[in-house]
Amino acid sequence: MADEQGFEAMDFVASAGVDLDGVDLEALGRRYREERARRVDDDRAAFVDLSGDRARYAADPFSAPEPRAPVADTVELVVVGAGFGGLLTAIRFREVGFTRIRLIDTAGDVGGVWYWNRYPGAMCDVDSLTYLPLLEETGYVPRDRYAGSSEIRAYARRLAASHGLDDLALFHTTVTGLRWDEDTAHWVTTTDRGDEIASPFVMIADGNFNRVRIPAIPGLGDFRGHSFHTSRWDHAYTGPDLGGLARKRVGVIGTGATAAQVVPPLARAAGHLVVFQRTPSTVGVRANRPLDPDALAGLEPGWQRERIRNFTAIVSGRRQPVDLVRDGWTDYHQAAPVPRDDEDAAAAARRGNLLHMEALRARVDAAVHDPVTAEALKPWYAYFCTRPVFHDEYLATFNRPDTTLVDTGGQGIERFSEAGVVVDGVEHPLDCLVFATGFTYGTPYTEKTGFDIMGRDGLRISEKYATRFSTLHGLMSRGFPNLFMIPGGNMQSSVTLNVLYTLDENALHAAGVAARTRELGARCFDVEADAEEKWVAECVAHARDNAEFLESCTPNRFNAEGDLSRRALASSNHPLPVLEFFDLLRAWRDEGSLPGLELG
Ligand code: NDP
Repeated sequence: MADEQGFEAMDFVASAGVDLDGVDLEALGRRYREERARRVDDDRAAFVDLSGDRARYAADPFSAPEPRAPVADTVELVVVGAGFGGLLTAIRFREVGFTRIRLIDTAGDVGGVWYWNRYPGAMCDVDSLTYLPLLEETGYVPRDRYAGSSEIRAYARRLAASHGLDDLALFHTTVTGLRWDEDTAHWVTTTDRGDEIASPFVMIADGNFNRVRIPAIPGLGDFRGHSFHTSRWDHAYTGPDLGGLARKRVGVIGTGATAAQVVPPLARAAGHLVVFQRTPSTVGVRANRPLDPDALAGLEPGWQRERIRNFTAIVSGRRQPVDLVRDGWTDYHQAAPVPRDDEDAAAAARRGNLLHMEALRARVDAAVHDPVTAEALKPWYAYFCTRPVFHDEYLATFNRPDTTLVDTGGQGIERFSEAGVVVDGVEHPLDCLVFATGFTYGTPYTEKTGFDIMGRDGLRISEKYATRFSTLHGLMSRGFPNLFMIPGGNMQSSVTLNVLYTLDENALHAAGVAARTRELGARCFDVEADAEEKWVAECVAHARDNAEFLESCTPNRFNAEGDLSRRALASSNHPLPVLEFFDLLRAWRDEGSLPGLELG
């Protein structure tokens, strides 16, 4: 059945024609365990320090800072980070009466990850009508079902301009310190441009993927060719249409969500492309297509909220009577098998997962002609062990005579040489190497922010979080009054794959708390010790719930690279499913007395 946009339901497993009748489930379980075992390695997540001459891997190739005088003033709110988290924070604070809001970002403009990620093929794989915030307010109709990076960046720019957020914004500016001044009840934000800005409230919205990760592979400095990270695409080298690669041997390290998008255009452009794989991704159906320009005409007010909630409920594992999005994300849950008489819900879910993985492996066989390459591209782990990837060209790209897959058997690159990359003793000569190796994850909080925060009585956040992460609502922390920190990962908050939904809910929550603090005539709030303890305890208890699944997975960032003992329990998310979680925060705000906060 087609939806209002004409999109067909997928039922991926049924259309793949797979079943488990002929599958030796014991052998399959053994295979999953073996694949995990051969990848577990203490060093697999090590990355290099990007200082000195390696700083170029994280430098901004897109715009250069203009000289300007340092700023010293007082505003109502400082927002660290001008990605969608920062933009939505500023917009939600404006809605509750804050006007002097200063966004600060290292980047040269708004957009966050979409400022940085301009590699060919970059697009968001959450459907654009669900992903792009405030479509009802802006009346904007996305061009495609899945929006490309440049469209998303332009939309972020449009939000900033239409909400008057440019006037006070400081770009190409990196925050270097944040200090609470008890006498004035203001934060003082300092930057690398000599700025000193006071504000009663601060939000840190610096994103999950804000630190480039270049893996610590021996010999990086030996490589004489050109190299860069996907989030710092070197258009000067490749040419805007990649024409500069026509006679080049190009290598890509990584086969995650970014690599799946960048490999097909690179293969078309390069003289020869070599893709180095450590763990194959699960690559599902994308089915992108242009949206009807009248797509939003006639929709009832509130349609986007309904769509977001519908999508979020489904991808949280709760089948809905209607699937408003109907894509690979929702199909997995909507078309999941219902329990048979001999099964409970968990057994049916495991069967659904096995079937889905069989269908994904069958998709590889259908797309890739060479059986050895096809075998190497098959993922042998449970669905959702890694972040699902969707692409309709990636797998077939390996049929091209000018594209080679180098499977490292789960071990990763051995070393760099002057001429290229060495795997299993074999040197692969390259002119250019593209690191599609992602971003650091799970590092200590102040390594992620890049600065320390000094709260009440000289308390530093690095000291407070040295032994465990500790918050109320994942957003506020005792000793740091009037400060909001949108959590990285899932720390003591709730996440869903449509990250912008959670960013907006965090923004609404922070704006609500700040506005109520003002209404109640207080200069500041701080978190009560008991309330924070209770919140942390609930999250820690939940951390143990999904340990069994995570421990069965091949190593990756969700399971602390295969060793859960490395994951601080307190860095877990809250036990409530995401919609209920944010409904709980909303109800807490509506109650009005800010329970668990001390007002001063
Ligand atoms: P990821 O961290 O997901 O993937 C990094 C890749 O590099 C993996 O394939 C990894 O292998 C590989 N790798 C790392 N070190 C080595 C090594 N030493 N040798 C060989 N291979 C190595 O990064 P991405 O940039 O793909 O994605 C980052 C995040 O961005 C993802 O979480 C994704 O959600 C998000 N994203 C979102 C998109 C969207 O549409 N919204 C689009 C693109 C990305 P291994 O798997 O073995 O660790």
